[in-house]
Amino acid sequence: MNKNIAVIKGDGIGPEIVTEAMKILDRTAEKFGHCFSYEQLLMGGCSIDVNGVPLTDETIERAKAADAVLMGSIGGNTSTSPWYKLPADKRPEAGLLKLRKSLNLFANLRPAVLYSELKDACPLKAEIAEKGFDMMIMRELTGGLYFGARETREIDGVMTAVDTLTYNENEIRRIAVRAFDIAMKRRKKVTSVDKANVLDSSRLWRKVVEEVARDYPGVSYEHMLVDNCAMQLVKDPAQFDVVLTENMFGDILSDEASMITGSIGMLASASLNDTKFGLYEPSGGSAPDIAGQNKANPIATILSAAMLLRFSFDMDKEADAVEAAVDKALKDGYRTGDIMSDGMKLVSCSEMGDVIAANI
Ligand code: NAD
Repeated sequence: MNKNIAVIKGDGIGPEIVTEAMKILDRTAEKFGHCFSYEQLLMGGCSIDVNGVPLTDETIERAKAADAVLMGSIGGNTSTSPWYKLPADKRPEAGLLKLRKSLNLFANLRPAVLYSELKDACPLKAEIAEKGFDMMIMRELTGGLYFGARETREIDGVMTAVDTLTYNENEIRRIAVRAFDIAMKRRKKVTSVDKANVLDSSRLWRKVVEEVARDYPGVSYEHMLVDNCAMQLVKDPAQFDVVLTENMFGDILSDEASMITGSIGMLASASLNDTKFGLYEPSGGSAPDIAGQNKANPIATILSAAMLLRFSFDMDKEADAVEAAVDKALKDGYRTGDIMSDGMKLVSCSEMGDVIAANI
């Protein structure tokens, strides 16, 4: 199969980790008889440096024309980088928000899995880590508080800031359908997270999720308040299969879920629209503290590439092969610095890519 992948390496460790993911895609293509071609696009700080803006219209059009987008991460040190002296809508992150919106990427999937080899890196009590966990956080990505009208102005001499949280039933329904579809392929449980005891948007969320649930009698579902969910994630993460939630709650809960796996460098993500198209990126940021040192963990980006193969290209065998190659590298004791423990073999970012490629 011939496929065209738009590649946004981005800033910080982005170029290092995406290079390794491309190495894995190339090895997979060779092994399974495919041809992947890449088109490199600029977004984030590197685009500000070249184009004066974090995302150009041309980049959006070229990304849309590809079969899928593979991304690293964008942004710099938010205290020291000159990019953060720019107005908010000119900063690196504004490019990513605009790209998600332009590509209509409303469903964000973040698997949080505790690998048995990395149980020691899990910060939870041993008896909780021992049970392991494997959940998929489904976050609504193009609505809610991050996209509502906002302003800061003086009212009666007092500086006042307003952010608006809006959801309509269609936005809720399409992400709920995705969550139930994915639950059907997993352990058939959806936990829908909201703040229905306070927010109108959450009460509508709950009503629509209940309507969608009626079409999936084989999937059990429950509602959970977001504050309780934040606690349950550290108390009993094994209870979760698919966690469905709105944009801001999902932002926070998915970071919490990633922390309890032990390393942000292990966590993949996919952002999908209502076709096969998707944008695939690691859950972590650009890690300016280790950028350019060949120290970053490329596994999250490699697993994101596996999600790309599975969700955008329907290449399940190929995705399984990549995931198995990652498992084998961990079982064989290879570790980047962020997941290193006694007795293991410390490798660089590019060496980890080599080991995983050789396992395919
Ligand atoms: P971060 O995720 O970049 O880093 C947090 C910590 O995790 C750091 O210690 C870092 O070294 C470590 N880390 C992250 N990824 C790693 C990897 N692959 N391997 C090993 N260690 C890894 O978060 P931050 O420091 O809050 O943000 C830095 C920049 O990244 C900011 O500009 C932020 O806006 C941006 N950011 C971008 C994205 C994105 O591109 N989607 C997401 C989050 C943050």
